[in-house]
Amino acid sequence: MTPLVPVAEALDTLLSKAPPPPHSELRPLHGACGAVLAADVVADIAVPPEDNSAMDGYALRAVDMPGPLPVSQRIAAGQAPRLLLPGTAARIFTGAPVPPGADTVVMQEQCTEVNGALEVRGEVRAGDNIRLRGQDIVTGACLLARGRRLRPEDLGLLASIGVGQVRVRRALRVALLATGDELVEPGSGPLQPGQIYNSNRFMLAALLRSLGMEVVDCGRVADTPAATADALLQAAGSADCVLSTGGVSVGDEDHVRSQVERLGSLALWRLAIKPGKPLAFGEVGGVPFLGLPGNPTSSFVTFCLLARPFLLRFQGVDDVEPLWLRARAGFTRDKADRREEYLRVTLSSGESGMRVVPFANQSSGVLSSVCYSNALARIPAATTVAEGDWLDVALLDSLN
Ligand code: AMP
Ligand code: MG
Repeated sequence: MTPLVPVAEALDTLLSKAPPPPHSELRPLHGACGAVLAADVVADIAVPPEDNSAMDGYALRAVDMPGPLPVSQRIAAGQAPRLLLPGTAARIFTGAPVPPGADTVVMQEQCTEVNGALEVRGEVRAGDNIRLRGQDIVTGACLLARGRRLRPEDLGLLASIGVGQVRVRRALRVALLATGDELVEPGSGPLQPGQIYNSNRFMLAALLRSLGMEVVDCGRVADTPAATADALLQAAGSADCVLSTGGVSVGDEDHVRSQVERLGSLALWRLAIKPGKPLAFGEVGGVPFLGLPGNPTSSFVTFCLLARPFLLRFQGVDDVEPLWLRARAGFTRDKADRREEYLRVTLSSGESGMRVVPFANQSSGVLSSVCYSNALARIPAATTVAEGDWLDVALLDSLN
């Protein structure tokens, strides 16, 4: 039997074999969340574009303190100021441009205006309450780099320099196949003996869409070599990548691996990962193929740890790996496994720092272990765990 491939090695293989990203297209900003920048965005204006007031108050020269000073103009946000005459003050509101000649804004809580003359209480220092031009973005700065997956706040940043559309990668099209004679669609009626509902189809389609990818849903595939081959060829012909679930183990009813080998080639198959040992990677007709295990939890974990970084890299993303944090084990584990194990855990912060507690049932068929957890904790191969040991932990929110 072939030795199991360690997870880190499998990930390296996957990332090194990710094809170049799809071509780029211009996308309006409001439709660009989750899309991947195909070119650097350079700021051609400064933000803020002018010095402006951080407070409702009065703009003046610090040297003219303590006053009183006549109020010579009123500047609301959106208005252009006039030159401030020395020895006078301007009524000003948050976000309004500071008039040339003024070097300070005094907040209105410190001020009293009596018959058009301003009196100021308390200390005033030159530069107070002024948001300087370019304090957020300087002209010419590379604002966001190619390969970045745009977040909601990025859209705000891009809008702040006046960008209305961005050059991003076309969304990757991923064909999704669910293999298994036992599968029926939820909503299609009660289960007959031997049947289960096709849960992976919904979970994986949603995971793909949350990565900004387009799903070509190829439905369910029967457990025969012919149906598997047909489905693989059809999927490969309609997408940039094929993702399947089930049928990759060694049973008589598992046809995915043999058909991929017949129609294309396989680069990886059995990984030292728990849950999820059978995971296939290769190509069919030149189109990358990823075969995830059928057990829903294995399918989820291998998607997050291996398929996700591969697909993101293929989509053109630079930073594809989850952020691993360190937390202490809130449990013990005497039995070491030869595979690296990913426990579904609840990460919480207590007086002694971050701590993880595993969901009670870690079976690969128990999908509620994922739903009722907020993180994955990694236990290295051949390692036992004592209470308080440090573990690597990734939040599920950073994985989907
Ligand atoms: P397999 O990898 O095909 O041997 O399947 C392993 C286990 O996962 C079996 O118990 C299957 O019934 C179950 N399974 C396979 N595909 C799915 C699916 N799409 N949804 C839910 N369970 C599945
Ligand atoms: Mg099966």
